[in-house]
Amino acid sequence: TSKLIEADAVIIGAGPVGLFQVFELGLLEIKAHVIDSLPVVGGQCVELYPDKPIYDIPAVPVCTGQELTDNLLKQIEPFSPTFHLNQEVTLVQRREDGRFDLETSLGQKFITKTIFIAAGVGSFQPRTLKVEGIEAFEGSQVFYRVKNPSQFEGKNLVICGGGDSALDWALALAGKAESVVILHRRDDFRAAPSSVAKMKEMCDNFEMQFIIGQVSGIETKDDKLSELKVTGADGVTRRLPLDDLLVFFGLSPKLGPIADWGLDIERKQLKVISTEKFETNVPGIFAVGDINTYPGKKKLILSGFHEAALAAFGAAAYIFPEKKIHMQYTTTSPKLHKILGVE
Ligand code: FAD
Repeated sequence: TSKLIEADAVIIGAGPVGLFQVFELGLLEIKAHVIDSLPVVGGQCVELYPDKPIYDIPAVPVCTGQELTDNLLKQIEPFSPTFHLNQEVTLVQRREDGRFDLETSLGQKFITKTIFIAAGVGSFQPRTLKVEGIEAFEGSQVFYRVKNPSQFEGKNLVICGGGDSALDWALALAGKAESVVILHRRDDFRAAPSSVAKMKEMCDNFEMQFIIGQVSGIETKDDKLSELKVTGADGVTRRLPLDDLLVFFGLSPKLGPIADWGLDIERKQLKVISTEKFETNVPGIFAVGDINTYPGKKKLILSGFHEAALAAFGAAAYIFPEKKIHMQYTTTSPKLHKILGVE
């Protein structure tokens, strides 16, 4: 249903390197679209360590993962990139005219001259519950993400997990759902202490229930998921009736569809043919940041930034074949000042 987008450059991955790729392309007057499977930008910095300090960004003695991301967003503002979040790039295919067809899991289609794969350790996917037969109910009674909270009103819910997502949703849905049971394998939560306290208080008031245990099986009735078999710390398996199951076991990265695009892969990394342009074996597709590999590669943010700069120059040759591209200093170039809007 979304309109086809024709682009010069599409960046896959909105981690620090994907964001800085926008900047380097922008200086060369190339506008970029950025796609990420997560609902937020920042990649590992935001998903894995938003509050932890980073000490090895040149000229930034210390900043957290979230601060680095916020600063990168500010730095790329003049280039107003278009973000397409919450969607994984599922298809990349070379067209006869030399450009690429690209498609996301939300059905957004692109035709683009160049692609920058800044996919890090892969796209973050929810960890699933490993119980036989449960896949059949995914999207109807079993959910790993909440898109529309109102669908759970009046339902008997079981929420699995011990992190912030599990507790936040349990607290948000209590009172709206018919009943809420939190199911976690131990009485120890990786969530904000205030949420844990609130949850325990609601349990004491019989507004919610907390059970220690793990789902070991399911029962169905009339093709619907009707009960969970829950094995407790005491080794006893009990039955737990429910309408819907919400599972929040965190996210884990998967290389996923990238493996199917005809790119040279070595130990789950994309090989680049040289460190001059960081181009893959497919002309027009560049790989930057943690996803790429070459002799001497170090998975550091600063290496990714350098790669992004050279990849941008490499791509300019495809986008402006008739133009000779010169490197200019942001300090002194009137042209770059104009591009950056700092005249
Ligand atoms: P990522 O940050 O991994 O971002 C990739 C993005 O691509 C993700 O958001 C992912 O969802 C998305 N994606 C992947 N595949 C797809 C797809 N098919 N469709 C759509 N989106 C997709 N580095 C340092 O330099 N200094 C440090 O101090 C430091 N500390 C660290 C501490 C920890 C705990 C960790 C885990 C890492 C640390 N790193 C550090 C490493 C640093 O975070 C990575 O080098 C950096 O995040 C790589 O950036 P990236 O943009 O290449 O990839």
